Amino acid sequence: LPELPEVETIKEGLRPKLAGLRILGAEVLRAGAVKAPPPEDFCRGLAGNRILGVERRGKYLLFPLEDGRHLIVHLRMTGVLLWDGGDVPYVSARIALEGGHRLVFQDRRRLGALWLVGDPGEVVGGLGPEPLGPEFTLEAFRERLKKRSAPIKALLLDQHFLAGLGNMYADEALFQARVHPLKKAKTLSQAETAGLYRAIKEVLSRGIARGGASVDTYRLPDGGKGGAHLVFQVAHRRGLPCPACTTPIERIPLRGRGAYFCPKCQKITSN
Ligand SMILES: [Zn+2]
Repeated sequence: LPELPEVETIKEGLRPKLAGLRILGAEVLRAGAVKAPPPEDFCRGLAGNRILGVERRGKYLLFPLEDGRHLIVHLRMTGVLLWDGGDVPYVSARIALEGGHRLVFQDRRRLGALWLVGDPGEVVGGLGPEPLGPEFTLEAFRERLKKRSAPIKALLLDQHFLAGLGNMYADEALFQARVHPLKKAKTLSQAETAGLYRAIKEVLSRGIARGGASVDTYRLPDGGKGGAHLVFQVAHRRGLPCPACTTPIERIPLRGRGAYFCPKCQKITSN
């Protein structure tokens, strides 16, 4: 949290506001939030620069700047970018913009990260394909799955395998495709692979259409909430009835995190 639909929503919300604005100054309140360069160079590099636009790669936000560099933001668990945000707690960084505007990076868990780099590939170069982009084809998905014996959900969360999916939308896609989260990737049938491929695109598109999921601290740049969690079928719904068969949704541990699924609809030996 936040995942691709949340970051995409933030990108779309900020772009019309930020594109073309000059940065008057930047202030880093938590030095650890800036991964590169050192915070003083980070602030100096931003001051006077102009923001040309807002882009997204996986769960990263990229802000191309007039001098050719990129400001990059990763929200991690609890990061929020507030447009003209007032005096809020847990602020990691603040950017003052022309016109009296400001962009506030609020981050309760303090895991979010900022970069100012010449080449965005330094930060996002290792990411897998965009699930809604043209390079993520069914054939490519099938090809990449068949070599892997990891649990399918672990693979979906691996940002080098596919960029942008997290816990919530991986659980939703696996449920929609009726695939057990612990099923070994290479044992998925042709039909399961095709179903999962379609489901990934559908749950992400649905998430974007609803402005992302405000299960926890995710907020839109204006402070409002998204509505994607209101149509979740299994994610964060432990003990509630499966929408397909009414069996209570279960949560099982998976590599230090959890996977929500329906034990009846998502059998590990479905084929
Ligand atoms: Zn079910």
